[in-house]
Order: sequence, then C-alpha cells, then structure tokens
Amino acid sequence: MKINKAVIIGSGTMGSGIAAQLCNANIPVTLLDLKTEISQIAKDRIYKSKPPLLVDKSKIDNIKIGNINDDFDVVKNADWVVEAVVERIDVKHKIYEKIFKNRKPGAIISSNTSSIPIKILSQNLTTEEKKDFCITHFFNPVRYMGLLEIVKNENNDLDKINHLKIFCEEQLGKGAIICNDTPGFLGNRVGVYAMQVAMTEAFKMKLSIEEADAIFGRPMGIPKTGVFGLYDLIGIDLMSDVLKSFIKELPKKDEFQKVAIEIPLIKKLIDTGFTGRKGKGGFYRMNKTQNKKILEAINLETGAYSPSKKVDVNFDKVDLKKLINRKDKYGEYAWSVISKIIKYASSLIPQVTNKFNDIDEAMRLGFNWSKGPFEMLREIGVENFFKRIDSFENNKFLEDLSEKNNENFYGERQLYTQIETLGKIKAKVVKLEKNNSTEIYRFRDYNIVEFTTKANALDYESIEGLKKATDKPLIIINEGMQFSAGVNLNYVMNFAQKGDFKSIEKFIKYFQETCKHLKYSKYPVVSAPSGLTLGGGFEVVVQSNLVVSHMNIVMGLVETIVGLIPAGGGCKEMLWRWSQTSEGKKDPDFAPLKVFEIIGYAKTATSPIEAESLLLLNSKDKKIMNRNSLFEVSKKLLSENTDFTPPNECKFKLSGKKVREEMFKTLEKLYNDKKILDHGMVVGKELAYVLSGGDTDLNNEINEDQLYKLELDSFMKLIETKSTQKRIIHTLKTGKPLIN
Ligand code: NAD
Repeated sequence: MKINKAVIIGSGTMGSGIAAQLCNANIPVTLLDLKTEISQIAKDRIYKSKPPLLVDKSKIDNIKIGNINDDFDVVKNADWVVEAVVERIDVKHKIYEKIFKNRKPGAIISSNTSSIPIKILSQNLTTEEKKDFCITHFFNPVRYMGLLEIVKNENNDLDKINHLKIFCEEQLGKGAIICNDTPGFLGNRVGVYAMQVAMTEAFKMKLSIEEADAIFGRPMGIPKTGVFGLYDLIGIDLMSDVLKSFIKELPKKDEFQKVAIEIPLIKKLIDTGFTGRKGKGGFYRMNKTQNKKILEAINLETGAYSPSKKVDVNFDKVDLKKLINRKDKYGEYAWSVISKIIKYASSLIPQVTNKFNDIDEAMRLGFNWSKGPFEMLREIGVENFFKRIDSFENNKFLEDLSEKNNENFYGERQLYTQIETLGKIKAKVVKLEKNNSTEIYRFRDYNIVEFTTKANALDYESIEGLKKATDKPLIIINEGMQFSAGVNLNYVMNFAQKGDFKSIEKFIKYFQETCKHLKYSKYPVVSAPSGLTLGGGFEVVVQSNLVVSHMNIVMGLVETIVGLIPAGGGCKEMLWRWSQTSEGKKDPDFAPLKVFEIIGYAKTATSPIEAESLLLLNSKDKKIMNRNSLFEVSKKLLSENTDFTPPNECKFKLSGKKVREEMFKTLEKLYNDKKILDHGMVVGKELAYVLSGGDTDLNNEINEDQLYKLELDSFMKLIETKSTQKRIIHTLKTGKPLIN
C-alpha cells in the first residue's frame, strides 16, 4: 500500500493541520469543505500560521482546494481519505456514503474523530469497506504534537493498518500508536482523567489554582500550564463537552464518572462567557486597570478574581519520591493525584490495551509529560507505592504487581515503534558519568551526551560534560523537548550581580575552548537538535562535525535580544559559512554584512529548511521528520565516518574598518528611524567590531582564536553594562524581551 495522494474532507483546525503535515512530507493533498471559499481560508491560514504549520512556505504548493459538491472526483485518485468534519455522526455518515461510492478500490479511509467509536462511525459500511476504515486521531497542532492514535477494531485489515502506521511514522513523523476502539482511546482517556483528578483534588483540598498548577506541572514532569492553565488553553466549554461524551460512553461504575461530575463554578464560567483564553478569560484572566495588564486568578470557593500570586514550591528537578513525601499540603496533593492516576491507568489493562507501555507513550507524546503513569510508579518504587496505597480492588495489573513485587516491571520505553530510539537504548548503555547538567553514556564504541537542565540551558557543568565525552566518537542528543535554549543566563547573572566578571570570562573561555575542541577533536561529533536550539545551543551544533536535525526546531543566534552578542564561536562560524558562498568568495565584505544582518536581527529558523537558507545548517546536514529517528540516523552517520579526519582550521580575510563603517551606517539609519535605541546602538557596534575582524584589513589573515577573542572581549564589555543586565533580568523574569 503506497500513499501518493491524499484528500482531506473538512478544512477546519484539524483538517488544515493534517493537510499541512502532508504538504511537509511532499504528499499532494486536496482539501475539501462545504464551499471552496472555506478551503481557501484554510489554505491562507496554513500559509500564515504561527508557529508555522509548514516547514517551508513553498510546501503550500502541495495543497489543492475545492468543495465537496464540484470537486469530489479527486477522491477517485486518492490513496488515503481523511475525514475531519464537525463531530456530528449524521454529517460523518453522509460523507462516508459518498466517499465509499467514489473511492479507489482498497484506498484507506479514516476519521479524525476524538470521541465517536469506530463501530458507530462504520455501522453503515459493508464488511469489505470496514476492512479499510479506521480512526486516525491527530492532536492539535498537528505538526508539533507527536502523538497519532490509529484506532482499529476486529473488522480491520491489520496489514493495511500497519502500513498506515509506518507511513505516518516515516513520512509524517508521528509517534503512531495503534489502539483499540474504546472511549477516548489511550491519550485522552488517561490525560483527561488526570486533569479532572488534579482539578477535583484541588477543590477538595482547598488549594488555590496557582498552588495546584505549581504542583501538577513541572515538579511532576508535566508542562507548566498545569491543570487550570491547560483548561483555559483548551477552552472550558470544549472540556465540558468532552466530559459529557465520556459520561455518556463510559460504564456507570468507571472511576472516570466520579471526577467528571459537573462543577457549579465551571457551569457558571461557561454561561457567563468565561470559556478560557479564547473567551473573556477563565480560571485565569488578564485584567486591564489603569492601562496596566494584571494577571488574575479565580478563587475556587467564591468565584472572585484577585491578582495571581506566584507560588514557590521549592522545586529543582523532577523527583516524585521527594514530592509525594513532602510533609505539607503539596506533598499530600501530589500523592493523591499521582496515586489516583496510576490506579486509573492500570485499571485499563487489559481491556483498553494490554500494553501499559503504550499508555505511557501516549501521555508523553500527546500531553508532553516527561513520564507516563507507569514510569511514575516505577520511580516511586513498587514497594513504596503499595505501602501507601489504600485499596486496588478489581485492578488485575496492580494485583499481579503487588504479588510479584517486581521493581523492574517496566522494561524499555517506546515499545510502540520499531525505531531504535534514544529512549530505548538508554536502558542498554553504560552510564559513564553524571553531573548536575549532563549525563554521559557509552554505547558500543561511542559516547552519548544528554543535557539535563531546564530547557537544557548550558552552564559550566554542561560544558564539562561535553568536553569529557570527546574521548570517543560522540552523539549530542536529548530526550527532552529542547536541544538547548542557550547559555544559562541565570548562571551568568549570578556572577554579574556579585560583580564577579572574572568568573563569567572564565566560563565563556571554557565554552569557546570546548566548542573548538568539539570541532577539531580526532573523533567525529554529531549533534542531533530538535526543539529550541538557540544561542550557545546553536554554537554547539554549528561546531559539531555532523548534524542530524529534526524538522521541528527553532534555531538561531538570539543574543542581541538581551543586549549581548554570540561568544561561543557563533559569529566566527557564521562568518566562515557565508564567506564560503560564491558571493562571499568574490566580495570579502559580503559575509560580514550578511551575518551582521542575521545576528543583528536575531533571525531564527523554524525548520532545518529555513535554517539552511540562513546557513545555520548545511545542505549535507540530515533533516528528519520523525524525532524518534534522530538517534538511529546519528548512529548511522558515525558508522559511515570511521575514517574521519578533523576539518582544517579556518583563516579569515576581513576588511576591518571599511566594512565596519558600512555597518555603522545601517545602525545610524535604524537609530534615526527609531528602530533601535541607545543600547541597540552599543550592541550593534560591538557586533560590527567582531564581524569586521576588529583592527584588521584585507592584507592580514586572522585565525579562529583571534575571532574567539574578539567575541569574548565584546561579550564582556556588554555584560558589564547596566543596560544589558537589565535586559537579561527582564527576560528571565517575563520570558519576553525588553523593548526600549
Ligand atoms: P472545525 O470546526 O475546526 O472544522 C470542521 C470543518 O468541517 C469546518 O471547516 C466545516 O465547514 C467543515 N464541514 C462541516 N460539514 C462538512 C461537510 N459535510 N463536508 C465538508 N466539510 C464539512 O473542527 P476541528 O476542530 O477541525 O475538528 C474536526 C474533527 O477532528 C472532529 O471530529 C473533532 O472531534 C476532531 N478532533 C479535533 C481536535 C481539536 O483539537 N480541534 C483534536 C482531535 C480531533
């Protein structure tokens, strides 16, 4: 079964998201809706979407649009037809009738429904037709959410389902989990239950919403939106509909029913238009008083809003044992929520799935949890768990586990896929070293470094880990979402606030030495970025010998945003790359001016294709749809490079003052147009000094060390200014740049 052409019916949020991902995979797709104008709006929306659904704007050419009355003939040539219309069974049934009358023999037909079982969707189909009909449940936003649930039942042709799974893994880059036809499938059944438990326990224990979100968030390895924040994001009204559907579909004695009972405050919020971020606000709201925006939080008992209070739960790293053993209300809340989630998830085995591993993976891929319920159970410890849990009747999984008392019940991660992932091989590696910021593993005859800090921000220990690992060929890769958000600015600011600039200088020098060492050490270094790959994180990638990049990255040198310039070799490498282009070889000022623009405007790429156009990546760098494959492809690259020789050192000829004056002219124009202010001018001039090669001219040759030195000196000058420090502090506090 080959999928060369696809048709999507329904061009709303999901239809357009699925169409965009097919475009990204270069599969021609036609988007049909009730009217062509609706599909046209969807196509425009895809083109303009932010964060972008397309990996490159040119991919839009893979989409054709039309309407279900005039253009339905396209279905005759499609290998896969996805229905993504409104969640109404009458509408869906009518569409299927028309599709099956027109489809190519054997073409696969799927629905994106989030709640209607296959048995109801397919009730009017013939036995032959039922073989080719399944549910492909994508998550929003399709490009960025890893999970795809492929729901099948006893009527399906399993070979075909497997082919579809492999297509969705390889071409669409999804973590495709096949599951049975049960309400909410895997992800939502457990994920929505977890949200409801987190919410109802917060009500019961009289926690504020900020307190609940502070615990049911990062400390549990759950995204920081928590529960109330997530409710606002999804839409309180939508969640209410989802719950109604669960109440209707699930047996009366299912534990879910207990946490799905309508809460009066929620009904009131919906009735008064407080449906979340899309409405007037929700549990949180932004209130504007005297021209100032203030974030407010609702009081769960009174329903009144007051300014939101930051809750410090003194959390450093995810440590569930420590969390549930806290002798305060937070510890009690954490235990109550986690233990209920574990109990519920395990009660679904084997009826919903006989692979508990799949439940964990659905939670990791679909809800961005760092661990699913069963890994949480392993971390708490089987014995500890059973010591504390009250009862677990009618739960075969827990009964068996308590009998066997097997602490090692878990096995490997990611059993749903054949791909040899980092998560899987971590169970087989030799752990060489671990510090606060990295872990080093040995696998076969090479090393693997994984960063382990928040957003994988780099500090002294991250660099130390990298350096130590170069005694063998090396892969730098992470299971966490981000490759690295850059140098840890908190770490740098701690020194700056004490006036200890010597320590900052030492750190930056060490970072430079290490990046140079990565580039020139006798063994090849592969970086495998995905997610944020910014600043120092990008400098690690750009000075690695080989790169395997996921399609979903945000890559670039963004230092100027906080009043700094790149100082880990970023300026130097970008200069080198642009100087090697045909224009760069002809005109010595071409590269400095180009890089001045890229770094000055802190340009970022949202895919490796965009990154290549900025020369943040090279054409030889691998670009991978499925994040799970990053490790396998990196490993293959190492095996292809056993005769590796390090590159030759770069030499630069730069025109110094001549090109700098041109850069200054640009800065003056920006200043006069009020596009940059005083400090922007200071930062711009430092960047110009570095990229022009300092006090040099075209008769001189300068080497990499000299450029590193220029980067360091300018970085130090800037970090010592109050204006840069103010910008860094503002960004650390708010997550946003300071504009003035
Ligand atoms: P939506 O309301 O954004 O879009 C539905 C589209 O279907 C609209 O453009 C509408 O004009 C079109 N439509 C309605 N009747 C049609 C017909 N007879 N023929 C062709 N087009 C028709 O909805 P959505 O959020 O994209 O959801 C689509 C499906 O995906 C639903 O089954 C929903 O349950 C499911 N789903 C949604 C999400 C989500 O987060 N939004 C996630 C997973 C699954």
